[in-house]
Amino acid sequence: MTVAKFGGTSVATADAIRRLVRIVHQRRDVRVVVVSALAGVTDLLVAMADAAEAGRVQEARESAERIRERHRRLAADLGLPAVAADNIEQVAIGLGRRLDAMAERRDGRLRRWDEVLAVGELLSSRIVASAFGDASGGADWVDARRVMVTDADHTRAQPLMAETRDCLRVRVAPLVAEGRIVVLGGFIGATIDGATTTLGRGGSDYSAAIVGAGLGASTIDIWTDVDGMLTADPRVVAGARLVPNLSFAEASELAYFGAKVLHPSTILPAMAQGIPVRILNSRRPEQPGTRITAAAPAGAGPLRALACKREIAVVHITSTRMLMAHGFLRRVFEVFDHHGTVVDVVTTSEVSVSVTVDDARAIDAIVAELRPFADVTTDAGMALICAVGEQLREQHHLCAEVLDGLGGLPVRMVSQSASRQNLTIVVGGADLTTAMTRLHDRFFPPVAVGGAAAPAGAIAGCGV
Ligand code: ADP
Ligand code: ASP
Ligand code: MG
Repeated sequence: MTVAKFGGTSVATADAIRRLVRIVHQRRDVRVVVVSALAGVTDLLVAMADAAEAGRVQEARESAERIRERHRRLAADLGLPAVAADNIEQVAIGLGRRLDAMAERRDGRLRRWDEVLAVGELLSSRIVASAFGDASGGADWVDARRVMVTDADHTRAQPLMAETRDCLRVRVAPLVAEGRIVVLGGFIGATIDGATTTLGRGGSDYSAAIVGAGLGASTIDIWTDVDGMLTADPRVVAGARLVPNLSFAEASELAYFGAKVLHPSTILPAMAQGIPVRILNSRRPEQPGTRITAAAPAGAGPLRALACKREIAVVHITSTRMLMAHGFLRRVFEVFDHHGTVVDVVTTSEVSVSVTVDDARAIDAIVAELRPFADVTTDAGMALICAVGEQLREQHHLCAEVLDGLGGLPVRMVSQSASRQNLTIVVGGADLTTAMTRLHDRFFPPVAVGGAAAPAGAIAGCGV
């Protein structure tokens, strides 16, 4: 049994949803379909919630109307029965009420955010379930909030696996056993008390993995708008190409360090139960995609892929004592912990420690709290590059080659992970594209087909 997740672009238009239905019908093993909000809708909901909170009620209402209209048009394009339209009306009315409440009240702020953010997946999942029509028995919509049980950490909730598994057993497994197709929204869940929660941006992949693990699926398929995990972010490097196989560990590193095609938490539930994850292109379903397993076959080259993240902040912290005193690092990390800020890369010297943070919202407060016991400087607008491949562990010259591949661009930080299958480098934001292109040219040179370098689209499927 396969759990298949379809991302925002794979449900954004009537044609995309028809493709989804075809894919599911053709692959008889797909029994559970997890969907994202239509592409762009969650961004719009975020902007709308911001506007409502700031008292720009008119702007928020106009955005709500745009969302309603977009879903109405989609339902009409699909020729859906009135039930889908009724649901859109109901959800839109609820959204209007929530926006009013956001403008008026400050308490329970993130709880309200989640109620607004959840609207995207509630609407898309209803429409997709209806789009299965009555042919081949249709599909059953299940409210993900009655299945995905989470803690109450609103906007970045974590699943409670045992409770979620119980709910899946009661509400989804019997339908699957009857041979039904079940459709549910990704990204959303609810606390034990029934308060709506969301799993963090891009969290539908994570939902699919949790559902797959909870139901004991044999495969988790992530359908998206690219052929699979590529050798680099295609928005940064022209000519990035397919990576056919990845280990769970490699995929986790790439996802964590910026490969947006996979939410960083997706791999954990799959890995815990050894369930293979595939990344596939819903526009080109005949393509093989990327297969992620515990032990992936070796690739052709020394690295599997590169990942990158922009807008990283680096905090340099120097002990005001001559040498780092016992307990210094603990105090430093307590400050970041206290502000709920995740530290990604850490380097230390005798008297200083430098860390990178992705989410710099609390940076001023963090610096203020560090100042009494350390000298602190920050660099904003930095970029992080992560080279990933299991061969980094054995081939000791590879690290030097990666650094050499930068061709003299200034390097701000370098870190090799304990797993020694990634090398992370921090460069200035303005150097990111050049750095990525140089590294990609060096480690993933164009594959010659018939004597000429193949265009990017034509070489999808080649090994790295
Ligand atoms: P979905 O809506 O299907 O979840 P996302 O936008 O979240 O899709 O992720 C797919 C996008 O991830 C691609 O369109 C691509 O621009 C981006 N991306 C970044 N890094 C990579 C990579 N290494 N391989 C493939 N895609 C990547
Ligand atoms: N719709 C949510 C987002 O845009 C979740 C997802 O797409 O995975 O973040
Ligand atoms: Mg995504």
